[in-house]
Order: sequence, then structure tokens, then C-alpha cells
Amino acid sequence: MIERKSNLILKNGWIYTVDKNRTWAQAVVIAGDQIVFVGSNEGVESYLGSETVVIDLVGKMVLPGFVDAHAHPSHAMDFVGNISLYLLDSLEKYEKAIAEFVESHPDDEFYRGGGWADTLFPNLGPAKEILDAIIPDRPIAIVSYDGHSMWVNSVTLERAQITKDTPDPDGGRIERDPETGQPSGTLRETAFKLLEGVIPDHSMEERKKALIAYQEMANRAGITMSHDAMLDAQAIAAFNALAEEDQLNMRFRGSIALKPDQGIKQQIETVLEERSKNTHPYFQTRAAKIFVDGVVEGGTAYLLEPYEHKPEFRGEPIWDPEILKDACVALDGENIQIHFHVIGDAAARITLDALESAYKTNVNRDSRHLITHLQLVEPEDIERFKQLGVIAVPQPFWFKIDDYYSELALPYLGKERAAKQYPMQSFIDAGVIIASASDFPVTIPFDPLIAIQIGTTRLGIVETTEEVLYPEERASLEDLITSFTYNGAYANFLENETGSIEVGKQADIIVLDQNLFEIPGNEIAKTKVLLTLVDGVEVFRASDFNGLYQ
Ligand SMILES: [Zn+2]
Ligand SMILES: [Zn+2]
Repeated sequence: MIERKSNLILKNGWIYTVDKNRTWAQAVVIAGDQIVFVGSNEGVESYLGSETVVIDLVGKMVLPGFVDAHAHPSHAMDFVGNISLYLLDSLEKYEKAIAEFVESHPDDEFYRGGGWADTLFPNLGPAKEILDAIIPDRPIAIVSYDGHSMWVNSVTLERAQITKDTPDPDGGRIERDPETGQPSGTLRETAFKLLEGVIPDHSMEERKKALIAYQEMANRAGITMSHDAMLDAQAIAAFNALAEEDQLNMRFRGSIALKPDQGIKQQIETVLEERSKNTHPYFQTRAAKIFVDGVVEGGTAYLLEPYEHKPEFRGEPIWDPEILKDACVALDGENIQIHFHVIGDAAARITLDALESAYKTNVNRDSRHLITHLQLVEPEDIERFKQLGVIAVPQPFWFKIDDYYSELALPYLGKERAAKQYPMQSFIDAGVIIASASDFPVTIPFDPLIAIQIGTTRLGIVETTEEVLYPEERASLEDLITSFTYNGAYANFLENETGSIEVGKQADIIVLDQNLFEIPGNEIAKTKVLLTLVDGVEVFRASDFNGLYQ
């Protein structure tokens, strides 16, 4: 980090301020941690002094720092430091990566990691025998890339005493061999809790290292604020330890995960207590997180109509609708912002129903509840977001036709529903506030510029098909940028502090190597972040950006 005492002037650039009128400027002046001037090149002259640092942008672009409105920095351990299957695309590569990790860590008492894709293992998920062949004598558990399924070997199942006779827990499933009924090696959703004690918790050091690794990636991607959407006590402790050691250099906000089978009263106490304790400017927790359903790829999303491949089954909610309603009334009554994971159209509906009850029961307030993912939503429910003031938090990274579409969405949802996944423009047309997100580590890499390109084109950045996913839902570049900046700040109640380049706001600012509005739509993702400032402090600078200091 470079501490700077003098004013910093960025001039001669394309500065897209994302203020209310989406104004463009040429120059910005930063004094300390704040923006003190936004305007023309000529306007900066009165700020020039002997100590002033001036960067001539020579036509580069400046944006407010990106906000990732839903990510899991505290789950970076699955990606760094353990067995990482992220970014690998075949079973052979998985086997090789696992074997190599075991070889280089021969004495570990257990193994864990993350990143396998359901596209390679439709229906039952991956089998225990594959892992048994590599690790026959010690437990191993590898979470799927989406965090909703766990792949384990036979030793893990034995030690967890998961057998043919173990019932599926509420809101979860033990995948089983259809002939023998024996657990086949994949656990879904709440079935993870059966592993408690078999695979020990991550150490504090491991957690802190992973958070720092995440932070470095975020700094490089131009992300100046990230919302950790699933905090538990250990994750909170790791964030606080780093905050105390002055190791956080960007804003983190977070939601505390609630469980359907533990009383809501006690959990509300915890959320309120944590909210009053976690007050560092770079780490605060004002929200609660609720998983309303699972995921399509696990067959655990809650749908209005049955799955295509299981005509009798439409999934089920993780929270019983009545319990969900009571929880929302109680949380909203305590002025706790609620962050919902919602994949299926039925899950969206019961969530909106629950919020409607909360608004009827409680006084009307600026609650800014959020619903993320929104893979399938009925048009009539989109209108209700606006009526209820609910923020939509989509992951534009996923708006494309790819393996997931052909291997899972099509067979599980059928063509009609698969073709209508992930609406975005409909929300904008309805006047709903959209704050975009990556869901890291579900999405890696998680650079917002990738999502901005996909959100405007609804094509993958590596074009394997000309087919556009739900073309009517392509959104404008302006709206995509706003969803990753101002609206993300709004979603975290920080729109008066950050999210746009305006006088009086904190200097959370990034420099890009080209103006996104001047290049072809399929080159947005190639744009490089050159400089990232948080509160006026430089947290990232590309090695080839000399900044052209004057
Ligand atoms: Zn989720
Ligand atoms: Zn998530």
C-alpha cells in the first residue's frame, strides 16, 4: 500500500461518474480519502501544488470501484491451500489434481477442497469409489463449485456413520446407489452437517491466509467492496482478526447465515449482537442470510412445475414456507436486512410472499432486502420486487449457453424453462434495483468486467456458440456498470459514502486501460484494471501502468 499525504489528480481521462445523471468528467481530485473535485481538466488547476501527484490518464477510463454484492470471500479456502478442482474440466484432471495434492501432503490426516462441477456427474453426483482409489484410508470431502454438494469417500461415510439406513435430513439428500440403496458418495445441502467432527474445521491461520488471497484477487479485479453472503462465527473471527491487524484494505460487508432448524429468536439475537460488535469501517455485518432452496444441478431448487427428468418432483424449499414467513416478519421487525438465496421460481414466490407478510405486519421502513441468483422467476413476481422494494442480485457471469445449459439446465428444466433463465432487463424495466455479483468461488475468475460483457451480450466470453441466452434480457452497458457500482453500494447502505465519483464521497476509484463505451462489446472482458484505489489508498497497480506521474 502506498500512503499518500498530498492531493492526487487524475486528469485527461474518460471518467464515468455513475452519479444520478450518469455524468462524464475529465478529471478528479482526491484529497486524503475523499473526492474533492470532479469536472474538467481546467478545473483541477487550483488544486495543483508542489506536493500534488498528477496522473495523466491519456484517454483511459475511470470508474467507481466495483462492488461485488454477493460473494464468499470466507470460502476462499476451497480455492487456495486445499485441493482445488476449480477451472478443471474433466474427471481425469480431477483425479490427477487430487493425487498430486495427496502426494505432496502425504501425512495429512484428512483432505478437503472444492470446485468439482455437476456437469460431469449428472443425477447422482460423483461416486465415492473414484476417491477411494486415490485415498482408501483417510477421510476426504470436496465441495462442489456451487457449494451445494459434497463429494466424499468411503472412509468419510463410515466415520460419519452414514449408511443405507440413514434418513435424508430435512432440506438435504444423501445420494444413493439406485440398486443397493448404499450412499453413493455425494451429499446435498443440509446433509453436509452429517460430516461434523469427521472433517475438522479450518484453522484460523488457514482462514486468514485465504481471505488475504481473496483480497489480492479482488484488488486486481478493481473490486473495492465485497459482500460476504454466508458468515459463520469462525469467518467473522477471521475478518475481525485481519481488521485488528490492519490487514484489510477494502470494504467487506456481510450476512450471517441462519439455519431453519434452530430457533429464529436466538439467531436474531446473534445477528444483532454481531451487528453491534463488528464496526470496523472495512468489516461490518448488518444482514442475515437465508437459503430458501438449493440448486438446479443438485435437483434441490424449488420449482413451480416438476423437473423435466423427474416428472413427479419439483424440489422442496429448505425453509418451510410458514417458518420462512415467521422468520421474515421477525427479522424485518428487528430492522435486519435479509439476503435470500433463491434459484427456483417457487422459491422466489414464497420469499416474496414472506416479505409481503413482513411489510403488512411491521412498520414500513427502508429495509433493502435482497434476493440473489433468480435463475427462474415468473414475470408477475418480477413486478412484486418493485412493489416490495426488494433488490435483485443476479450473477451476469452465468447468462450464457454453455455446458451447464446443455448438460443440466436442458435435461432438468426442459427447453422452455432453460431458455428463460436469468432475466435481467425485465427487472430493470420494472424499476427494480439490481446489484450484480459473482458468487465467488462459484464463479472464478470473478472480474466484474467479464460479467459486464456477458450481461450485455448474453454470450460466453469464449464464444462456443452463436446462440444467445434469452436475448430480450440483454441489458445496457450503463445499467451493467451501475449494477456493479452505485447499486452495490446502495445494497449495502453505503450509497452516500461510495459507489459513484462525486464530491464528498470516499475515493474508491479504478482506472481501466480502455473506455468500455468505445470498444466492441466482445472486448469488454479483455479490458485491464490498471489502478485500484480504496479510500484514496492505492491497493493495486498493474505492473505496466507507470501512471505517467508528472
Ligand atoms: Zn447461493
Ligand atoms: Zn452464494
